[in-house]
Amino acid sequence: MRKPIIAGNWKMNKTTSEACELVNALKEKVADIADVEIVVAPPFTALWSVSEAIKGSNIKLSAQDMHWEKSGAYTGEISPLMLKDVGCEYVIIGHSERRMYFAETNETVNKKVKAAHEYSIKPIVCVGERLEEREVGITNDVVKDHVTNGLAGLTAEQMLATIIAYEPVWAIGTGKTATPEQAQEVHRFIREILADMYSSEIAEQVRIQYGGSVKPDNIAQLIAEPDIDGGLIGGASLDVESFIKIVKLGK
Ligand code: PEP
Repeated sequence: MRKPIIAGNWKMNKTTSEACELVNALKEKVADIADVEIVVAPPFTALWSVSEAIKGSNIKLSAQDMHWEKSGAYTGEISPLMLKDVGCEYVIIGHSERRMYFAETNETVNKKVKAAHEYSIKPIVCVGERLEEREVGITNDVVKDHVTNGLAGLTAEQMLATIIAYEPVWAIGTGKTATPEQAQEVHRFIREILADMYSSEIAEQVRIQYGGSVKPDNIAQLIAEPDIDGGLIGGASLDVESFIKIVKLGK
């Protein structure tokens, strides 16, 4: 059985005090939830204080990106060693905003995913098509390219410790959610790609989240689909009440 995973991507929002306020309110209200894995991804500056605030709770910490090297002359970058040091169990890699604004490619995604595994940090790898790609009917080609190249060369064990987030770019922050059927179709397709890359046993065990304008009023229909194992939540994770509702409905 794949345990559902709901992760909040806070993007470039929240000062350290705002981040702690949010996570302190959250941890009280989700304390009794054991059947959903709950992850928050604050900005780098708030990782340490959030890490301290969630100690002993059922909330896990993620970063939103990282460099692939352990250390060195990479001004402005953060390494996997540093993320491990502040208590990150997860790291989001290849978010469409990083692909769009910061020249992230499948090649850099792949280096980062491998580096994350070297430090036993579980990568949440984002894949998904842009609107113009869906409109010309190449969604599957784009997703296959992201999956096969972004995840190339992982061992079966590393694959099992990797989360894939299917995020159609046209649904991120736009209020346009993919229908549960549209999302399910791509999630199933991703499982078929994984079956070709590894085996059907492995493909059935990998968790695949959906992301893109997930809200309390659409999570239940999405999660009801057989191949959707949770959500990567942007905007709605910044509001404690809506994130709590999503977590509670996300199983
Ligand atoms: C995201 O940033 O990964 C995301 C899905 O954002 P939103 O929920 O705001 O669409």
